[in-house]
Amino acid sequence: MNTTFYTELTTNSLQGKVLSDAYCEEILTGSDVELLPLLDAAYQVRKTYFENEVQLHILNNAQNGYCPEDCGYCAQASSATTDIEAYPLKPDAEILEEAKRAYESGAYRYCLVMSGRGPSGNRVAHLAELIQTVKARYPIEVCLSAGLIDMESAHLLKTAGLDRLNHNLNTSEAHYPNICSTHTYQDRMETLQAAQRVGLACCSGVIVGMGEGTDDLIKVAKALRQLEVASLPVNFFLPIAGTQLSEFDTETQRSVPTTLTPEYCLRVLCLYRFLNPRVEIRVAAGREHHLRSMEVMALYPANSMFIDGYLNAEGSAASRTLEMIRDAGFTVKANDEDIERLNQEEVEKRDVLLKELKVLRPRMASKQNQVKPSVD
Ligand code: SF4
Repeated sequence: MNTTFYTELTTNSLQGKVLSDAYCEEILTGSDVELLPLLDAAYQVRKTYFENEVQLHILNNAQNGYCPEDCGYCAQASSATTDIEAYPLKPDAEILEEAKRAYESGAYRYCLVMSGRGPSGNRVAHLAELIQTVKARYPIEVCLSAGLIDMESAHLLKTAGLDRLNHNLNTSEAHYPNICSTHTYQDRMETLQAAQRVGLACCSGVIVGMGEGTDDLIKVAKALRQLEVASLPVNFFLPIAGTQLSEFDTETQRSVPTTLTPEYCLRVLCLYRFLNPRVEIRVAAGREHHLRSMEVMALYPANSMFIDGYLNAEGSAASRTLEMIRDAGFTVKANDEDIERLNQEEVEKRDVLLKELKVLRPRMASKQNQVKPSVD
């Protein structure tokens, strides 16, 4: 592909133009679209709005499991047989302690996540109190993920100081029945609209690799653009054993997830950046698993990431993520105190190990190990 193609991608994105579906398809699958110039074109857009900063987020899984819904990708779903550590809502003291730790580890935002279809009125009131306490104690942004909520609940949470509500669209409207039967795409859309009506910023994203087509990914990216979400997590489906989508289910006829490659994942991130130029794009669950040795390249289109793992899956150690960010020349977005602490943080030491003789010259080593016969 000639250089004009890549330059146009950057220019059109910066001018706020919506790319045609054909253009989007080309980004995802075009065999003559090369990865490095594509990443550079996306980076030009990222740099314009976010410079070289990376926002870090820490998830607190405040309630795990016990969910009546049947989202096929989720280990907490009633339909999953995964042996997760289920627990009801953590006590307030534990949640507050974790908020403190998130603040002290340099996280810009603290994400409180609860399993379930949606909170009751009492639960919303309780969460509002908790959010008020966290905001009074620590200068940290708070994001809540609590399932489906209506406008009244959204208003109460907003008044308590909630900064953002997370509710992912996950996939396109057409593909939604293939991943969940207990609620719909429209239910999710209505929650986001309720949050927006009361002035809450929305965090909503996608899960890539659930058997969807490229057209589904393009539709979600465009829907999120229309919703003007503030932040957009791009998750890559983690095939956790026991979840409905982790293998083909002959009873429900649900699809086998596509096999994601690092290059495809990066192309998706670029597409989401071009279509959502000013939005905080977070490379979320699955970055270690699917991007593997190319993980650091995700920082060129994306400007935020989780540290310390995901809902039910572990991620890289925080120190390794910080090291990767710095090694690539990016900086962590945090206040001055946090930056100082992060700079002092010890990155795990790697001793240089010398090769042993059994590796260098196995035959010589085995001879040396032979016991000499006794002269007696
Ligand atoms: S994604 Fe949320 S609503 Fe769906 S099963 Fe998991 S916890 Fe329940």
